[in-house]
Amino acid sequence: MIIDGKQAAADLRQSLAQDVVQLKADKNITPKLVVILVGEDPASQVYVRNKIKQTTEVGMISAEIKLARDSSQQLLLEHLSQLNNDDSVHGILVQLPLPSHIDESAVIAAIAPEKDVDGFHAMNSGRLLNGEAGALVPCTPQGCIILAKKHLGDDLSGKHAVIIGRSNIVGKPVALLLLQENCTVTIAHSRTKNLPEVCQQADIVVAAVGKAEFVKASWIKSGATVIDVGINRIERDGKAKLVGDVDYANVANVCSAITPVPGGVGPMTIACLLKNTLEAAKRYG
Ligand code: NAP
Repeated sequence: MIIDGKQAAADLRQSLAQDVVQLKADKNITPKLVVILVGEDPASQVYVRNKIKQTTEVGMISAEIKLARDSSQQLLLEHLSQLNNDDSVHGILVQLPLPSHIDESAVIAAIAPEKDVDGFHAMNSGRLLNGEAGALVPCTPQGCIILAKKHLGDDLSGKHAVIIGRSNIVGKPVALLLLQENCTVTIAHSRTKNLPEVCQQADIVVAAVGKAEFVKASWIKSGATVIDVGINRIERDGKAKLVGDVDYANVANVCSAITPVPGGVGPMTIACLLKNTLEAAKRYG
């Protein structure tokens, strides 16, 4: 089975659009997301354009603040302070990565946790770690769980999940979410010994490594579910190509379900950003 992230994201957007109408009817609130982009990185520009477009499509309000590449950290912090204090704004997202002269963690810390729709603020990661209600959960990890459930159903309890990667934005939050789902969780990383053998134990493999086609078919237990978070640009046969962290063509023959790249986890990330914006507006609007 190919787990269709495009379709899952479209379904989620459709249900969010209905919730947006309901929130307007019940409380006269329309969720508003503001995205700040510093500089002109082409990939970031595409991501921001898609975020803005999809926000509008589900009936939310979106705005973009564009700052020059050489803008000071102080200027960015001033914008954040203004947005934190603006009651009409429910979600704030600073597109990463930031230019190197700006301290990313200081910027994330300056976003009001209740408007931190990326879910990267320490208050939100702490709440996720403690299993407390009210956390805004990072978008890509949320998308991974939704896609795993598309194949496995809502009950993931007792499954052994192996996550390859321990970044704060993907690996660690995916691990915490799977733990909340009562999975037995193994987190692998660059110092893990015998990675193929570790992966062979897994009912669910989440690959968030950042290395093209890194996970091989021989590492995958027959019938496992494979969630490929990776986005890697490679050249093959003289053509530019987007591939995941999993050797898709061969792994697909062994596993029972797999997310493709593109069209898997990627589309879910923006849909979950919209979900977080709605959540923030419902809770604090
Ligand atoms: P990252 O911060 O670079 O983390 C990569 C992780 O992989 C690290 O924990 C690293 O281990 C581990 N790793 C590296 N080499 C390894 C090896 N040989 N064996 C085992 N583990 C190894 O990357 P990220 O931000 O988590 O992103 C991972 C991938 O997901 C990237 O391709 C990125 O583009 C993609 N991504 C996609 C989306 C989406 O929307 N689909 C969103 C975010 C990211 P150490 O900690 O030991 O260094």
